[in-house]
Amino acid sequence: MNTAPVLTLQPGRERSLVNRHPWVFSGAVARRPKEAQEGDFVQVHSAEGKWLATGFYSPESQIVVRCFEFDDAAADPGQGSYWRARLQQAMALRHRLNLAATGTTCQRLLHAEGDQMPGFIADAYGNTVVLQVLTLGAERVLPHLAEGLREAGYKYLYLKIKENSAWLERVSLQPGWYGAEGPPVVEVQEHGMRFEVDVVGGQKTGFFLDQRDARALLKTYAAGAKVLNTFSYTGGFSLAALAGGAAQAISVDISKTAVEQAHRNAALNGWGADRHQAVAADCFDYFRQAPDDLDIIVLDPPAFAKKESALKNASRGYKELNLKALKRLRPGGLLFTFSCSQAVSRDLFRKIVFGAAADARRHVRILHQTTQPPDHPINIYHPEGEYLKGLVLQVD
Ligand code: SAH
Repeated sequence: MNTAPVLTLQPGRERSLVNRHPWVFSGAVARRPKEAQEGDFVQVHSAEGKWLATGFYSPESQIVVRCFEFDDAAADPGQGSYWRARLQQAMALRHRLNLAATGTTCQRLLHAEGDQMPGFIADAYGNTVVLQVLTLGAERVLPHLAEGLREAGYKYLYLKIKENSAWLERVSLQPGWYGAEGPPVVEVQEHGMRFEVDVVGGQKTGFFLDQRDARALLKTYAAGAKVLNTFSYTGGFSLAALAGGAAQAISVDISKTAVEQAHRNAALNGWGADRHQAVAADCFDYFRQAPDDLDIIVLDPPAFAKKESALKNASRGYKELNLKALKRLRPGGLLFTFSCSQAVSRDLFRKIVFGAAADARRHVRILHQTTQPPDHPINIYHPEGEYLKGLVLQVD
């Protein structure tokens, strides 16, 4: 039975929940449950008293409830079995994707709202799982998930706690191994390419799994090409280009640690200094010294717009970068350009790149539009979960 306290919406504010959008904003709430604390489960009722959803309560946040149950009013999320069933559903999708068959040993197992698990991200690197726990509600459920992951054969769990989200203040968990301590650096494969992933010290969960499909796409275009991979992190796109027969790949990243790791990853795959160079530099400046015979440029910057309010500056940043790259490519070259800012819509991104193309005065054609791969599923009722967009452009 579901005995969670009840939160009641204002009259007429149930539409988005009827449409299974998982977030309840503070302005839609008429009555908050006095007895509920941050991180507790709450039931969300319409003004007429009809059950709409069950979710995690975050009274201090703008998003007061993050819902995960829309079908069964009686389902009791206090039971471990409830969360293990959720996890199994997520695993069933990954089983269907069967990435192992493509020589891939790393994937996203839990993608927050995309897997009806708000507050959780879990990335698997071999038998190590790196978990991001984003809310207090998620923290409370973690022991059940950890048990489920261990049952599924994952040996080591590492917790990453993001410091910069406002609602995080009360997550009491500390970053570190959850249970048995595993190796801090794990070797994985993506489409047969070998990568070392620093699960403890790396950025995000250690590797950008969300660009797997885009890297595979680059591989198909790379034969004989001279490739510049900007914002290269540990060299993902460079290795894909080299695996596709690129003559040369240059990785550029501002982080020295990332550049060193890119070197090691290239060596791990048998690429020496004749084929792969890695440069520690600010990519905005690097274009001044970039070679002028580039066949392919990859632009995969970090999220410039973390919030709507940062959109203007972010747009300027994306435009500047794309302009630099478009000017630099040789005629017939290809630009792989991406934005992972959730606040920058696919439409807006395309407009920004359009602006850069017009300023560069080049003939530009869209060959592909890319998004995140299926282990980062997008809940159709939660379009905010679609954050990664990319364009592959032929530049004449
Ligand atoms: N393409 C990568 C992921 C890129 S993540 C992959 O496939 O794995 C974004 C990277 O941009 C991070 O490694 C970060 O260190 C780097 N970065 C951030 N600002 C930068 C700047 N101004 N110049 C160069 N690199 C930057």
